[in-house]
Amino acid sequence: MEIQRTVKEMYYRVDPKFKYKILKAPGGETFKFCYQCGTCTATCPVARFTDIFRPNKIIHLAKLGIRNVAYSNAVWLCVNCYACTERCPQGVKVADVMRLLKNLAVEDGYIPEFSKEFMKNILNTGFVYSIPASRIAKRVALDLPPPPQPKLADLKKLGEMVKISELIE
Ligand code: SF4
Ligand code: SF4
Repeated sequence: MEIQRTVKEMYYRVDPKFKYKILKAPGGETFKFCYQCGTCTATCPVARFTDIFRPNKIIHLAKLGIRNVAYSNAVWLCVNCYACTERCPQGVKVADVMRLLKNLAVEDGYIPEFSKEFMKNILNTGFVYSIPASRIAKRVALDLPPPPQPKLADLKKLGEMVKISELIE
């Protein structure tokens, strides 16, 4: 599966200045204080479901200058829920570091295919994935309100502003 890029692939490009890019960016200033306690990983709801995603390991590799960590695809599994940031005893803004790593990969023109699909779905439907009719029917049966109606025109405008189609095509 595309998400499962190997650790070997991740190790092939070392950039001693990489960590400074993160340190200089907003949200990245505290990442050097990580002492690898693992609380972020123990807290992370994504890490609970896959052993591919280990936020503490990602931070460790980034500190070592292993730039490829941004293209490992694991980092792209972060859903930016901020649970890790809330609990880090060192005040590392873990979720922001994950976002920064994604941004650095995008600067280099890299976005994994599954993230491109999510973006396309958001632009076309307002949701990360197409909600099946059966799910809507279940909501009706449970007397739940319908899902909110996304403002697709606004999304389209936003997409044009950030030139999203150039990134995902
Ligand atoms: S919780 Fe904080 S200090 Fe602990 S491993 Fe994660 S980032 Fe590092
Ligand atoms: S922000 Fe990302 S890394 Fe942190 S707990 Fe949520 S999914 Fe995990």
